[in-house]
Amino acid sequence: MSGKDFDGFVVVVTGGSTGLGRAIAVETASRGAAVVVINYASSQAEAEETGRLCEAQGAKAVLVQGDVGEDADCRRIAAAAEPFGRIDALFNNAGVTKFAPNHGDLDAVDAEDFLRLYKVNVVGAFQMVRAARALLEAAPQPGAVVNTASIAGVTGIGSSVPYAASKGAMNTMTLSLARGLAPNIRVNAICPGFIDTPWFGKAMADDTVSRMREGVIRSTPLKAASTAEDIAGAAVFLASPASRHVTGETLLVDAGTHLGFATMSMR
Ligand code: NAP
Repeated sequence: MSGKDFDGFVVVVTGGSTGLGRAIAVETASRGAAVVVINYASSQAEAEETGRLCEAQGAKAVLVQGDVGEDADCRRIAAAAEPFGRIDALFNNAGVTKFAPNHGDLDAVDAEDFLRLYKVNVVGAFQMVRAARALLEAAPQPGAVVNTASIAGVTGIGSSVPYAASKGAMNTMTLSLARGLAPNIRVNAICPGFIDTPWFGKAMADDTVSRMREGVIRSTPLKAASTAEDIAGAAVFLASPASRHVTGETLLVDAGTHLGFATMSMR
């Protein structure tokens, strides 16, 4: 026994190649996870790096390519944990977006955008829970599902209307599944604000991302642009023994973004 709170855990992280998924994978490994199943869609080299980082913490890393929007892929991802007999924690972290930040421009998005985002962000998470259910129920304590939703799904801000709607759906699904799968499985979500990950650089120029980061630092109550490591601890908390009586919760992890403008300041 290492005395760490994830000692011997079998963990599955979707979208584990980069960003928040990588930070979650490494955090669970550093807390004693025995096995970390790392799913990626296209970033194989980055997923291999996540695997190396987990193994440096003493965990066995198992890499599985797969698109969570495809049910057969979800079953393959979950099956990678089968030799270990259980899943203690499933992190549904894979996500996609479309950037159309003017939410009043209704012609900037179309039905295909909604369907593409829902397929990964909502249906993908649902399919992963369904595929992993028996192994989550085989964990010695209630298995934990942690969904990466977003502050977009609570406040309607964010990269586009379909994205915010998909994360709102994920939050509601968290409630339904928490009720439906109790007492053997806990289901919670985190709702991050801005996280400084490859997410933005995939779609924007570096100077645009820099301006956004500076704007976030100016406008958040905590005056912070969160890194993936700043957020991962909150996700991991929801899979840890410390949250054993928490289910159906959506935890805002956004440096205070949801508080909006500060109250009157005399400085
Ligand atoms: P990221 O580094 O771009 O990570 C996104 C991950 O999702 C990648 O690992 C990607 O895998 C994976 N992915 C995308 N489509 C997939 C699919 N169909 N099947 C499996 N994996 C898929 O960005 P991130 O910021 O860490 O995003 C992680 C999560 O945080 C997402 O759910 C996102 O919505 C959420 N989030 C992000 C922010 C933010 O400000 N960055 C804020 C709130 C919430 P490949 O690279 O292999 O394609």
